[in-house]
Amino acid sequence: MQKQVYLQTYGCQMNERDSEEILGMLTAQGYAIVQREEEADVILLNTCSVREHAEARAFGKMGIMQQLKRQRPDLVLGILGCMAKAQREEVFRRLPQVDLVAGPAEIYDLPDLLAQVAEKRQRQGLVAAIPDHGPLPPSRSRILALDRQVRPLDRKPAGDYRRGQVTAFVTIMEGCDKKCAYCIVPMTRGQELSRPMQEIVEEVQQLARAGYKQVTLLGQNVNSYGKRFPDGSGYQGPGRRRRLLELEAEPGAASQGVAEGLPLIDFPVLLRHIDAKTSMARVRFTTSHPFDAHEQLFCAMAECPTVCEFLHLPVQSGSNGVLRAMRRGYTVEAYLSKVARLRELIPEVALSTDVIVGFPGETEEDFEATRALMAEVEYDSAFIFKYSPRPGTEAASWVDDVPRPVKEARNQALLALQEEISRRRTTRWVGREVEVLIEGRNRRGQLAGHTRGNATVVCEGPNTCIGELAIVRVVRAKGTTLIGELVP
Ligand code: SAM
Ligand code: SF4
Repeated sequence: MQKQVYLQTYGCQMNERDSEEILGMLTAQGYAIVQREEEADVILLNTCSVREHAEARAFGKMGIMQQLKRQRPDLVLGILGCMAKAQREEVFRRLPQVDLVAGPAEIYDLPDLLAQVAEKRQRQGLVAAIPDHGPLPPSRSRILALDRQVRPLDRKPAGDYRRGQVTAFVTIMEGCDKKCAYCIVPMTRGQELSRPMQEIVEEVQQLARAGYKQVTLLGQNVNSYGKRFPDGSGYQGPGRRRRLLELEAEPGAASQGVAEGLPLIDFPVLLRHIDAKTSMARVRFTTSHPFDAHEQLFCAMAECPTVCEFLHLPVQSGSNGVLRAMRRGYTVEAYLSKVARLRELIPEVALSTDVIVGFPGETEEDFEATRALMAEVEYDSAFIFKYSPRPGTEAASWVDDVPRPVKEARNQALLALQEEISRRRTTRWVGREVEVLIEGRNRRGQLAGHTRGNATVVCEGPNTCIGELAIVRVVRAKGTTLIGELVP
């Protein structure tokens, strides 16, 4: 009988794409995807560890799921992703009936790992019955896979699965080499590794041929794409990258660089290749660390017609003291000058950011500096997070000294400020014609999509528009949504 899998994803877009890859591999093995846990033979949670809240949700969900095993001891439960890696002890302690625990670097092994669970059960005879009441015993068929440091990117998994038909995610690199003091990602996802450029270009072209109109290139810091490839090549570090850029600028020296096997492949080069060599209509990317966002990136954005005029550039704080403590590697002044240069090259560019409030040692003055920066930059949108200590990170050993109510108040103040700015920024489109990628219908049955700057647009129109680029005249704004009419 066909096995059924249910998979729930927590966290970032990289996790969403990982979940698609997992479902692709499992469907290639004959599994059917189901939308309800009760119908599944295998329940998988692809988890996130960036904040405590995300972990609490996954623990809560799996806590309920493992009770299902009292009626169905043959059910297979798996915790995958960052929380599996960061919290393995807690997973064992709190979720004794979980059968499979696998980190982000092990996702390509999943079909094998599930086969190992089945084999272990077979060897032990029938799965042991679990009493109706009382504490759950530990699973006897538990398989752990957490030791790999980096995902083997040269091993292309079988099968392909995408949730959408208009827009798609394309992972261009794994891991993160930054060491932001608050962040668990370098621990859970390991060292940076970039996928070969040709492979990415081919994947984007295949998606274009299949009818997709937009790709979002994904990485924890796409701006350091190309630093290290699976075959050991790559520009290695920012210093070497600078040198290669200089070489390319010197007349005649570029060929010398090429002869030495040194041509620079970095993120702007990748954007230019995708723009020139594929027929994809729109290209987005996330996330950009400000330290590595350079003039070359801004020029590539300005010059490549397919690259959307949108940049997510997480600032985290408007205080130099806090930025230093966070180990972000840039100052407020450097950040602002990058924003100014980008706006000079692309005046209509839409900007978004991430901000953390209540980082250890954040004073009222530091917080006011963040508020002032947000008012000055006028982002189109922003994610505001309350600092959450993550065990194992550098900042976790510091006193979490901003009281919870103060974090909450700072969070609310920035949300209110941003909402007002976002609404104001949205109204600048009223009365203008914009290009919209129509992605589907919203709950009210209207066509819905996004502008190149990522503003949400709704309008009336036929189904034939879905999956197409349409010109829409914006009539009014409701909150941060633009309401418009199709231009025939
Ligand atoms: N790589 C991306 C970058 O550097 O911008 C983002 C990665 S992280 C998954 C997304 C956001 O979560 C970060 O930009 C940061 O604002 C937030 N974040 C990370 N660790 C956090 C923590 N310990 N507490 C609160 N927010 C956190
Ligand atoms: Fe985390 Fe910093 Fe890496 Fe982003 S750049 S994933 S915040 S360590």
